[in-house]
Amino acid sequence: MFFDLHVHTTISSCSQLKIDDILEHAKNRGLDGVCITDHQTMEIRRHLKEGVQDSGLCVLFGMEYSTQDGDFLLFGPFEDIRSDLDSEQMFEAVAHLGGASVAAHPFRNKRPVKEQVIRQGFCQVVEGFNGRNTDAENLRVESWRQKYVFAESGGSDAHTLEELGRVKTGFAMPVRSRADLVFALRNGLCYPSLSVVSCPLPIATDN
Ligand SMILES: [Zn+2]
Ligand SMILES: [Zn+2]
Repeated sequence: MFFDLHVHTTISSCSQLKIDDILEHAKNRGLDGVCITDHQTMEIRRHLKEGVQDSGLCVLFGMEYSTQDGDFLLFGPFEDIRSDLDSEQMFEAVAHLGGASVAAHPFRNKRPVKEQVIRQGFCQVVEGFNGRNTDAENLRVESWRQKYVFAESGGSDAHTLEELGRVKTGFAMPVRSRADLVFALRNGLCYPSLSVVSCPLPIATDN
């Protein structure tokens, strides 16, 4: 099963990607599911019913959380997380609640993830391929692969419809609910996958 694990809707002020467009186009991009990861909010739950939609597309809710040590995709049995936590408090909260965290665009020049977070094992999954990173930024994850053990995901980080599904996460188990997703991430049953759609990768931008 393939999910785009990192997607921003217009709930994020930086994104132009409409919820309706995600629902309409995701399956054509080869996606079985989409995770909505707006910045610092799970507001999406007020706009959409979570889970498998009538079309068969599975839409799950998480958030992208910004800290001084980098940005993290958070998924778990929670409907929000206080937005003023530092990274240690955030990891503690996610672990306490039984969630999973993904180190987003780890080597992006403007918003990198601090290596100590990976060294200390706070984050189960690293976004090994991010659709808004440059190739060079994505390739630098290799230096961590040689030093640490972690699972990897892929996400487009879409802020426009063109970007949706350009990078995916493959799951080695069926994922039909947020609980499935958290289980798969915590147990490393995931891998990054580049889309076969032949659009050039977007130029990296902020966020
Ligand atoms: Zn993002
Ligand atoms: Zn953004």
